[in-house]
Amino acid sequence: MIELLKNLVAIKSDTEEGANDALRFCSKWLDSHEITHEVLENEGRLMIHAEIGQGPTTIVWNGHVDVVPGKIEQFNPIIEGDRLYGRGSADMKAGVAAMMEAFRRIYSAREQLKQRIVLHIVTDEETGGRKTSGHLVEIGRTGDFVICGEPTHLKLSVQSKGILHANVTLFGKAAHGSRPWEGTNAIEAAYKFNEQLKTLPFTKVSNPYYEYPSINLAKIQAGDRYNMVPDQCDVAYDIRFVPGQKWEEIIEQMTELAQSINPANIVKPGGKTPAITTTEDNAFVQSLAGVTAEVTQKDAVLFGQHGAADTRYYAKTGAGAIEFGPSGDDWHGPGEYVLISSVEQYADILTKHALV
Ligand SMILES: [Zn+2]
Repeated sequence: MIELLKNLVAIKSDTEEGANDALRFCSKWLDSHEITHEVLENEGRLMIHAEIGQGPTTIVWNGHVDVVPGKIEQFNPIIEGDRLYGRGSADMKAGVAAMMEAFRRIYSAREQLKQRIVLHIVTDEETGGRKTSGHLVEIGRTGDFVICGEPTHLKLSVQSKGILHANVTLFGKAAHGSRPWEGTNAIEAAYKFNEQLKTLPFTKVSNPYYEYPSINLAKIQAGDRYNMVPDQCDVAYDIRFVPGQKWEEIIEQMTELAQSINPANIVKPGGKTPAITTTEDNAFVQSLAGVTAEVTQKDAVLFGQHGAADTRYYAKTGAGAIEFGPSGDDWHGPGEYVLISSVEQYADILTKHALV
């Protein structure tokens, strides 16, 4: 399996073509083990769907072979002790290699499986996931429980924050720059708005996995000359809300604040992604936590992720969707690595969990 992982890391899959090459490599590997699978294509992106077993429930293993851009030397995997360095080693070719290996192991026992196990290998997670994971869900290839093999140190990320893009337009009154008291400065209004935003009730909401939502002032646009008081300032926020929070309430509170500064001010919601709200009483989470504790000889840890992954597409259909994968560090950074021992344990956990 580690050989398979090294081969995967060596494929420069930080482009569309590269990611498709990595996908074809996975398909060849499955062929070489006589594992029946489909290679599907959508908008130029390839993906794999394989399924085995029978029974009333379906578990999906989802892994992506595309990676964020890396230096050329990062596509040369290097092993030092328990660490395997390379772009995508942790995020998430280790997850993919372990899923392929676990699938191979249970493939020969597929007649005995009491549930269906589906393997999805996809190629556009790092650029949004819509074309492959999104597509698979759209054509009905989903399940009751989904494991995305993102690096989580063998902890179960059962929730992730939702996303709300909020666009705020603050209006002022133009005046000559030499007599600013005759106008109202829209940039200063935006500054005031931003400060007061942090005191709104929605910023204090928590649940067992999160202490508060994340708020990022992402864009600002205003002013084009020195000698004028700017009369309009547009700001945009990336808000990651806590599962259970309603985005409508956030917009309502922001609108009230903006209009208390100037009744003409406008707050508009942009893109939205629901939060992942899997809970610890989910039966699959419980069985997976049990197997994880057995294999790692440590109590299983459940937590909530701040960012979003391909889990979001599957969760839309009502499936329990979690991120769960091996240990590593510095993914998206120059020193990305994965711990080889955790990849072995991860494959063992998936195998045992499938055979439950
Ligand atoms: Zn990833």
